[in-house]
Amino acid sequence: MATFTNLTRANEIGANSYALDLGDARLVLDAGMHPKLDGQASLPNLEMLDATPVDALFLTHAHHDHSGAVPLLMERHPDARVFLTEPTYYLADRLLHNSVNVMKSQREELGIPEYPFYTHPQVAALTRRWQACRLGDRWTLDGHPSRLPDPVTFTLHSAGHILGSAAVEIDHRGRRILYTGDINFADQTLLRGAELPTSGIDTLIIETTRGVQPNPEGYSRQDVRNRLLQALNQVHDAGGSSLLPIFAMGKTQELLALLHEARQRGEIPHDTFFIGGLGRSFTEIYDRLADAPDRLARKPSLTEDIRPQVLDWRTLRDFRPKRNHLYLLPSGMMTTRTTSNRFASSFLNREENGVFFVGYCDPESPAGRLRATPRGGKLQLNPDEPETPVRARVEHFDFTSHATREVILDYILRLGPRQCFLVHGDAPALAWFQTELSRSAPAMKVVIPPPGQPVDL
Ligand SMILES: [Zn+2]
Ligand SMILES: [Zn+2]
Repeated sequence: MATFTNLTRANEIGANSYALDLGDARLVLDAGMHPKLDGQASLPNLEMLDATPVDALFLTHAHHDHSGAVPLLMERHPDARVFLTEPTYYLADRLLHNSVNVMKSQREELGIPEYPFYTHPQVAALTRRWQACRLGDRWTLDGHPSRLPDPVTFTLHSAGHILGSAAVEIDHRGRRILYTGDINFADQTLLRGAELPTSGIDTLIIETTRGVQPNPEGYSRQDVRNRLLQALNQVHDAGGSSLLPIFAMGKTQELLALLHEARQRGEIPHDTFFIGGLGRSFTEIYDRLADAPDRLARKPSLTEDIRPQVLDWRTLRDFRPKRNHLYLLPSGMMTTRTTSNRFASSFLNREENGVFFVGYCDPESPAGRLRATPRGGKLQLNPDEPETPVRARVEHFDFTSHATREVILDYILRLGPRQCFLVHGDAPALAWFQTELSRSAPAMKVVIPPPGQPVDL
């Protein structure tokens, strides 16, 4: 009997992690940390795996909600092999070391005694056990190219979400299971869209991030790009400067490339782009892996052709944004103590300035609360701080790296799996997919897997 278990503690985008018990092998798909919770509550239900050893862990991409708990799972299962792509290897390694630093400071500032969950030497030792696998090849669970009919083999497919992101196809005695991780089918500026199997999948495990967001009429990435450039120009013409709070991994590199292209064509006047220190580290990895198969082109070199400067809040006092400079600072949700949060009031307090979001903002994050504050209002960015007047123009531009719900639904219907597990979405998003699938494909077994309960495959 084969089962699927949702190790996430709730049906939401949290500490993503799923177990596949195939009888012949026990596999885990991702092991993330919850972006909004702290301490033990931020972890997936890893204790559920203690009774039997895990044979292999697949890490689909480096984002923290998929990778943050990988060291903890590896400590509990010292014989488990870990499979990922080469870009994910470098990006997740850098991210986990950053995560150690974040947890160390949270231990002090928030008084969370169990932090850090892992240390720099632990991360260094554990990542040596990771095995990078080429996209499209078939592998055995021993980490060898598969030529004989092994009971369990796997293949990684490009997922188009961030550099190195991959969907995992598992072949078990003739049954094919596909776990998408986070997916995006459309080309971005740097990245090629996903290339997933189009037939022959029996069980599909798929993300539903955008299940509550209908695609706006006439939405196109080109249109979003043009509207952002127009906003940047209007701010510049009014003598102001623009802040783009942005995720350090993935979105920073995409927007650097997009804005560089616009700057070269004379569509925006800015002479210098600023990014944060962590954004710089991930940007260097994007450059080192310019030949990765999911990159659309080697060029531009993000560091050499674009030459972004690094803005470090520790070395700057009395910061005043400059009109000809463009600031792409992490984090995207303006989380407390991040660079965009520390600099936000320098932009918000003048009406000629702009604060432009380019990715997802949780409504409860400082970014989400800023978006909900009317211009002319006031906002408390952080507890224990005075309110900041919101005089600047604040807007959102949807440069998503997730497929829209319509595109994902279309993919599921064309693929036509016997069984479909809906994951990585909040309750209304999961419900939208379930309703649409029951209407359009009544024979398909659609499951919203309850946390901690094995479901038969
Ligand atoms: Zn992701
Ligand atoms: Zn995710």
